[in-house]
Amino acid sequence: MLFFYGTGSSRLLTAPLLTTSCTHCGTTGQLSATVFSRYASLFWTPIFPFSKLSVTVCGHCQQTIARLKQMPEGYRPPVQQLQQQARYPISNFAVLILFGLALAFIFGVGWFSDPTPATALSAAEQPVVETDVMEGARYKTIGMTDEDTYALAEVTRLTADTVYFKTTGLLRSPLTAASATVALRDSVPAGVPISKYPRNLWHFLVQGEGRFRRIN
Ligand SMILES: [Zn+2]
Repeated sequence: MLFFYGTGSSRLLTAPLLTTSCTHCGTTGQLSATVFSRYASLFWTPIFPFSKLSVTVCGHCQQTIARLKQMPEGYRPPVQQLQQQARYPISNFAVLILFGLALAFIFGVGWFSDPTPATALSAAEQPVVETDVMEGARYKTIGMTDEDTYALAEVTRLTADTVYFKTTGLLRSPLTAASATVALRDSVPAGVPISKYPRNLWHFLVQGEGRFRRIN
């Protein structure tokens, strides 16, 4: 792939040098200075700025001086001060910002929309796969925000790598085998009655994090 590296410049500010006299024509109050930023670019889009340069123009005689070094001594202090005041615009970092946004997007999507985070682990970090789980096993969630509130889950189907289960809505009544049976029959929210997790995530929930406690 061909990369078009380069440099570019953008105007940061223009200000009159009200008390400085033009050394060419002697007019006072007609000089102005413009500060530019120079930036590295990729495909003509700024990556980051690396320097500032200033240009003075006399509005009376049109004399233009494009380098600080070539400016008369009297021009330099006000021009240097302007140069220090001039801030690099955020657009000078366009590529870095886009790159950062792209990274944030990639990781954000990875973190927040993946319903099976365990699969994102590398092979070396693959957790143990839950093998003790069986169809009909019931679990109670623990560690929810309110101590008295819990939900129940019942495993409905198993495959080699996936645990299918249904969960109840939030429950508050004292838990008995009979109340669990009723809740799992009557309190399963409509819409997505069956959830599924990879077995390794199930293991994490039951053993690792202990969010699901077996109740039968
Ligand atoms: Zn002049």
